[in-house]
Amino acid sequence: MLCPPAVRAALLSVYENDRIPHALIFEGGPEQTLALAKWLAQAAVCTAPGVHPCGQCPGCIKAQAGSHPDITLAGGGETGRSFHKEEILALRSDTFIKPNEAPCRVFILQNAQNLSPQAQNALLKVLEEPPASVQFLLTCDRASSLLATVRSRSQIYTLTEAQPPQDDGLAEQIALAVCSSKESGLLYLTAPLLRDKLRLRAVLERLTLLFRDALALRSGGKALLPEDETAYKLAQSLTRAQLYQMTQTTREARGWVERNANTPLMVTVLCARLRSEAAAF
Ligand SMILES: [Zn+2]
Repeated sequence: MLCPPAVRAALLSVYENDRIPHALIFEGGPEQTLALAKWLAQAAVCTAPGVHPCGQCPGCIKAQAGSHPDITLAGGGETGRSFHKEEILALRSDTFIKPNEAPCRVFILQNAQNLSPQAQNALLKVLEEPPASVQFLLTCDRASSLLATVRSRSQIYTLTEAQPPQDDGLAEQIALAVCSSKESGLLYLTAPLLRDKLRLRAVLERLTLLFRDALALRSGGKALLPEDETAYKLAQSLTRAQLYQMTQTTREARGWVERNANTPLMVTVLCARLRSEAAAF
């Protein structure tokens, strides 16, 4: 997940201790905050034992495809006050319905900075007496644009410092180079990662997201990063089986980083595996 280390640590502590608040606010860029909200929603509806989200159980598959009955994505238009009270009132009545198949129901309110004051007051009513097993995930550019009463009932996480700017586009270039017939491009692109574990971790997170998005697109679902062209290109040139395998490989490589594997060796093995997976039909 594209998430600053401090935010990741705070979220981990909240989730590990089962002190999950009814409302979380993520402030930052629209793409990044929405990706995090969707990832946490998937984690909430994942029904596999062990680490959530597993990415493979029926709950995760439906969440990735945007079709999980216990995840509701709502948002207004592009402008201020375009997220109306009526939409919140409709959601509010849904909060009293028991979850269909997950342990809880998750409501993602996208671009919450556009909530009208009336809509925020309607939301506040739910946050004051939240039904059990209901979670609200709000994304917005600045939490300060929300009413103080809403903020005080939520936990706020700031994501703006997530990615060092020099990583812009590196994961995308690597993903496309993996599918290219020239091996030199991939060697050149991955060279900066050999001695920079933090950057490698960020690139691996992004690669996993890109392959997963391409897999979702290939399966007729929606991309988490719909404005990114790379996932569309990958979906056009690779099969579902290949994309699935490559998602697994990058996810596995993230585990190697966490276990402090030998970085140059790991990058070499990763490139070789991705290339052979991209070439195999
Ligand atoms: Zn799962």
